Amino acid sequence: KRNMLIVRSFTILLLSCIAFKLACCFSSSISSLKALPLVGHLEFEDVHPASKDFGNRYQLLPLAVLHPKSVSDVASVIRHIWMMGPHSQLTVAARGRGHSLQGQAQTRNGIVIRMESLQHQKLKVHGVGAPAPFVDVSGGELWINILHETLKYGLAPKSWTDYLHLTVGGTLSNAGISGQAFRHGPQISNVHQLEVVTGKGEILNCSERQNSDLFHGVLGGLGQFGIITRARIALEPAPTMLYVNNGQVKWMRVLYLDFAAFARDQERLISSDDDKFDYIEGFVIINRTGLLDSWRLSFTPEDPIEASQFKSDGRNLYCLEVAKYFNNEDKKDVMNQEVKKSLFELSYISSTLFSTEVTYEEFLDRVHVSEMKLRSKGQWEVPHPWLNLLVPRSRVNEFAKGVFGNILTDTSNGPVIVYPVNKSKWDNRSSAVTPEEEEIFYLVAILTSAVPGSTGLDGVDQIVKRNQRILEFSEAAGLGLKQYLPHYTTRHEWRSHFGPKWDDFVRRKSRYDPFAMLAPGQRIFDKAS
Ligand code: FAD
Repeated sequence: KRNMLIVRSFTILLLSCIAFKLACCFSSSISSLKALPLVGHLEFEDVHPASKDFGNRYQLLPLAVLHPKSVSDVASVIRHIWMMGPHSQLTVAARGRGHSLQGQAQTRNGIVIRMESLQHQKLKVHGVGAPAPFVDVSGGELWINILHETLKYGLAPKSWTDYLHLTVGGTLSNAGISGQAFRHGPQISNVHQLEVVTGKGEILNCSERQNSDLFHGVLGGLGQFGIITRARIALEPAPTMLYVNNGQVKWMRVLYLDFAAFARDQERLISSDDDKFDYIEGFVIINRTGLLDSWRLSFTPEDPIEASQFKSDGRNLYCLEVAKYFNNEDKKDVMNQEVKKSLFELSYISSTLFSTEVTYEEFLDRVHVSEMKLRSKGQWEVPHPWLNLLVPRSRVNEFAKGVFGNILTDTSNGPVIVYPVNKSKWDNRSSAVTPEEEEIFYLVAILTSAVPGSTGLDGVDQIVKRNQRILEFSEAAGLGLKQYLPHYTTRHEWRSHFGPKWDDFVRRKSRYDPFAMLAPGQRIFDKAS
């Protein structure tokens, strides 16, 4: 008993010493940080907004939030922490829009850098009228702002995400994929140059030719090697023709009952050499009463009578979604004929062709419309236990059978997006991870929203369990898939995620961020001490 008492007292003493040491550390960190000359400022009080993200499941409270006004603010803070040496416990998380799912843009007791504060730096469009135009933007810029600015010059970025209220630095740290990726590759394949602040506080420009190791490492690098403060992004002419209803985009949806037929057509379209469509995606409708109507809201059936007679009899449906952009020089009738011809070659259920015409801006910003609706119903800021996977083409039918046919029996709380992309459009030198070997792989995004507080099937715990079942099923079947926007908790899992890229990933970490100060919320490396 006496020994136990001694051990207990000793433990309490030890913990108090640690707590005291930490308190001293933090208070000396705070005063030294406060003394830094900055153009922007460090906020120590109002830090709660930086402790949340879109996933709404993880919460880490930072010590301070940096609101930088220039790249030198970012560099000064990082250099300051670097100079404190490996024993400083401070870490740094760049926060774009905070649309991560599991705290990837958070840090406990560290510094969050609010990248959007850099937005005031002007977007500069170059090469208008030249063959390869581009735009220089801040790493905290939102893609929607880039769209608005570049459209003034009749130009637009080539590659997108489905949702544009995300930052350049946030999507370039992952990949940035949407229905244009089959032609142009992900956003990380459409960047010419970056300005990066490394974990030592150096400001470096990098590109294919200059500091190329850093350039390739940062793209898809999950924020591990540096903070992207500027990016040079490739542009192309934006569609210009005002179509029937003042739109420049013809947007179409058709249905399949058979997954294999749906996937075959998607693959055929993305592999075609002629530019049949400019955007190719798809989604799964796990059939439920009433849902069949909501997926085609604001779309018009080609043949209303036939469409109204179509019954799915409770089976899953697979919806192919394509879009065609129109330009002034295109002849409207000819283009319409071509679209019809391209559709004719597909094997969808003939009565299920629905279409609409929208402006290019409306088309690209389409998810924002859903966001506004969900916000108005209080359903945007709920937990989002999303699962994003990259599935090799050769195993996608097996995946669909096991997952859409068995595990996902009720997906009323969010879309399930499925579309293929071509690996050859991805630069294998980047840090982004894709399934090995095969030329085509599928993005499968299971974007379920949870009902807050529910302990039922629509509650966060049950959805997380269901996601786990999907991963276990895929693992057991040896499907060779990879997570997109990956989340792992052990070094072993990260090593196997990166596969042959792991050694380079570790080498770059020790070269550009040796104290493992950056992006701790990814939980790949422990802070050096
Ligand atoms: P954050 O969540 O703030 O940050 C993400 C990670 O990047 C963190 O680790 C952070 O530290 C790091 N980071 C942020 N900024 C920088 C920087 N400047 N330099 C270095 N590291 C940085 N993704 C797709 O590919 N395609 C889609 O269609 C798509 N649709 C989406 C739709 C919605 C509604 C949502 C919420 C997300 C979607 N995503 C999509 C995922 C999205 O691309 C990622 O979540 C992305 O990280 C979000 O960007 P963010 O600006 O919010 O980054």
